[in-house]
Amino acid sequence: MARVHNWQIGREMSYWYPESRPQKQFAAVFDINKCIGCQTCTLACKTTWTSGKGQEYMLWNNVESKPYGCYPLAWDLKLLEMLNGGKWNGKAYEGQTIFESAPAGERVSGWRPDDHDYAYPNVGEDDCTGQVDKGASLSLPHMHWFFYLARICNHCTYPACLASCPRGSIYKRPEDGIVLVDQGRCRGYQECVRGCPYKKVFYNPLTGTSEKCIACFPKIEQGLQPQCFVNCIGKIRLAGWISKPDRARAENPIDYLVHIKKVALPLFPQFGLEPNVYYIPPVHVPPPFLRQMFGPGVDEAIQTYKNAPNDPDLSGLLCLFGSTEMVVPRWRRQGETVFGTDDKGTELVKIPMKEPVYVRAGYDKLYQIARTNCP
Ligand code: SF4
Ligand code: SF4
Repeated sequence: MARVHNWQIGREMSYWYPESRPQKQFAAVFDINKCIGCQTCTLACKTTWTSGKGQEYMLWNNVESKPYGCYPLAWDLKLLEMLNGGKWNGKAYEGQTIFESAPAGERVSGWRPDDHDYAYPNVGEDDCTGQVDKGASLSLPHMHWFFYLARICNHCTYPACLASCPRGSIYKRPEDGIVLVDQGRCRGYQECVRGCPYKKVFYNPLTGTSEKCIACFPKIEQGLQPQCFVNCIGKIRLAGWISKPDRARAENPIDYLVHIKKVALPLFPQFGLEPNVYYIPPVHVPPPFLRQMFGPGVDEAIQTYKNAPNDPDLSGLLCLFGSTEMVVPRWRRQGETVFGTDDKGTELVKIPMKEPVYVRAGYDKLYQIARTNCP
């Protein structure tokens, strides 16, 4: 085992290979507050990548309703149980990661789902935490909650799938940090399926190999965001590149949200993989539930997000989500307009922070019609 630095848990940790960061790291921010659970992302991925034989059960992108939803069954609960919950001391994680808690002779603490665990992709969908009395749902606040958690492969800095593979079939691309399974080398041992705590590698029984989200790399190579991002109805997703915290640049949208504003947080950072999909936590959910999921930065992130109406830069950047198919590596705000640009400063997209509103006359003299949208 090598010693590597994991900034998300605020300390060094053990990993199977020495630290070797890519030249650029693919990353994303998902704003949970905006997700409507429509599953358009799930279908966009399904029809693009997993409509073949042997892939029927695969959901490289899935959306589960928390607290009860999970695909495969109990993927998160099992891991939390294996790590005994884990303890934080301020921003430093004091418990063991899945690499540090691995039993003798094994590379990670993991488990492999069986067919039954994959049989209920929509379990818990739209279930809230308790019974809402008749009529109470119409008034706020009422005491119960749920939220949608959209999940893809995190293209982790320290991937457990890669560490688990005894054949070295999984690799992290040096040019963009995307994690892929070499289909020619894979022999279907399924150690990656067992090792990934997020359960984002799937075994194809027909080809005898493992498969996973590829971050739509043919699109990324052309400067375009993945399919599940551009099809997102709620415009909750933003793809880009993340720097290490000490190299964060304010003009990089992902750096700004993750490192500077600290409004977007990793999913289960205590697992130790330094996952590269970041979530803006839902503001209506009790913080203790969110802290076990996104770490100790939850309270600060929620406060920052709630204050966005008074923070023109943050609210401006949030307007860039879902605004273009292009990956936007830089951004800037000028007054009430937000610009997304490429690395050379060439404009890719321009968004007004306030949509213009036009009030039309109740009767249109030109077409001699009454507008039904007017009182
Ligand atoms: S989320 Fe799982 S499959 Fe994706 S890189 Fe991390 S360990 Fe590998
Ligand atoms: S398409 Fe967007 S809004 Fe719809 S479920 Fe997926 S992430 Fe949520």
